Amino acid sequence: MSSENLDTGSAQKDRLHRLESRLARERRARLEAESLLEERSQALFEANLALSNLAADLENRIENRTRELINAQQHALKQAETDTLTGIANRAAFSRQLEETLANFQSTLKGVAVLLIDLDDFKLVNDTLGHGAGDALLMEVANRLSQTVRPGDVVARLGGDEFAVIAANVGFKNTGLQIANRLLKQVCRPVIVDDKEVPCSCSIGIAHADPAGTLADTLLGNADLALYASKRAGRCRVTAFESNLRADIENRAALENEVRLAVMANEIKPWYQPIRQCSKNRYKSIELLARWHAPGGEIRAPQQFLATVESLGLLDTMMENILHRAFVETLPLMNTGKFDYLTINVSPTQFNHGWTQHSLPKILAETGFPARSLIVELTETALIQDIEHTRAMLADLLEDGVRIALDDFGVGYSNFSILRQLPFHLLKLDRSLTMGIENDATLRAVTECIMTLADRLNINVIAEGVETQQQSDFLIALGCNCQQGYLHAHPCQFDQL
Ligand code: C2E
Ligand code: CA
Ligand code: CA
Repeated sequence: MSSENLDTGSAQKDRLHRLESRLARERRARLEAESLLEERSQALFEANLALSNLAADLENRIENRTRELINAQQHALKQAETDTLTGIANRAAFSRQLEETLANFQSTLKGVAVLLIDLDDFKLVNDTLGHGAGDALLMEVANRLSQTVRPGDVVARLGGDEFAVIAANVGFKNTGLQIANRLLKQVCRPVIVDDKEVPCSCSIGIAHADPAGTLADTLLGNADLALYASKRAGRCRVTAFESNLRADIENRAALENEVRLAVMANEIKPWYQPIRQCSKNRYKSIELLARWHAPGGEIRAPQQFLATVESLGLLDTMMENILHRAFVETLPLMNTGKFDYLTINVSPTQFNHGWTQHSLPKILAETGFPARSLIVELTETALIQDIEHTRAMLADLLEDGVRIALDDFGVGYSNFSILRQLPFHLLKLDRSLTMGIENDATLRAVTECIMTLADRLNINVIAEGVETQQQSDFLIALGCNCQQGYLHAHPCQFDQL
């Protein structure tokens, strides 16, 4: 072996050795790297896990918070739209829901009715029984309304004693009326408050949305006009809006204006109708009947203005004016014995407000008209509410010598026992009895009965509305000598008496 060959062999060995050690280093390095990688990925995995846990937690918390916020908002909204006393919807909720219902109505084309409900004489409950009782009544009414409407209808309290219902999906115009009548029936029943029975009644106005489109304000305005008409018609009633209602109400407002001016300008004057005593062939007394001398020269009867005067609170003023004039102009007729009595009509409300106790004596004193020449005519409705109170109210007048007549006796459900309970001097047979007396045996029997009773109680009877000689004769045959009516004399002005 040459030295060159020897050399080459050891160099190769050397190279192999270096290669092996490099390989070993590299293997070690790879192992180290692999373990590092594993370590890092473990850390990464853990970090990832922690991160996703954190994210889930955060998401949860956000969700909870959002839910809380939504709940709070809904609660606040509900609070803002709830009537605190009754727990039903308030005006704000009502307005929002009405807008929504009307918007839907355009697309569904099912009917929508709005009902406005106002309690009758609620102020009286508050004033006489206190606010606690008033609140209890309002709560009970809210309760009754909620239980009577159909599911999905909205019941709201708009304020005070005014409630409203939105009835959607009403098919025909009279569905609204049916709902209203059902509500009326439920609400108009007494309510028990503190063991006391408190009367409860309401008036209702209805308006239906027009399929061609109705604004909420128009619909409410129409329902309001209908409600007003219900109130004017005497409460505890339902009225559905119709286009002529507006004209009626405008006419009424015009009449009110005219009547107010008439009272102030003294256009309402005393007219008189003599009452004949047939047996003595003379006129015994004269009844004062109010007439309106309207600006155009027309003479208007009490039916055309009296109720309006009263509703305007002007009856006291009107009566004071006409009585002053009547007492002054008829006094000489009483003094000279032409007539024995002047007889005047007093309305039930006026009487119950103490007018005969307070105002009448003043007018008598001012004019010097003798109380003993005066007859006050009252109707049964004025007297029966509280007989004891009535007796007390009449006591002073009676003591002064004024006489009391029971007017319109025999009409409707006249009550015979009232004749025993109060000290009447006279009773006036209603025209409805006189009118049929010649052809109706029952009416004759009733009249005969009244005549006998009056005779026993020492009460004089005057027949009203005697228009024919035959009626007069029948009445005389039954013992009724005092008669009033067109047969004997029409009402006239003083200078025609
Ligand atoms: P009333 O007290 O029953 O008066 C009788 C009514 O019958 C009067 O109507 C009179 O004009 C009418 N009359 C009289 N004779 C006849 C007749 O033969 N046939 C017919 N068909 N009617 C006859 P008027 O004057 O229109 O009065 C209506 C009502 O108005 C009165 O009914 C009375 O309740 C009330 N009233 C009239 N004047 C006054 C007043 O000054 N004050 C008050 N509070 N009420 C009055
Ligand atoms: Ca009368
Ligand atoms: Ca009468």
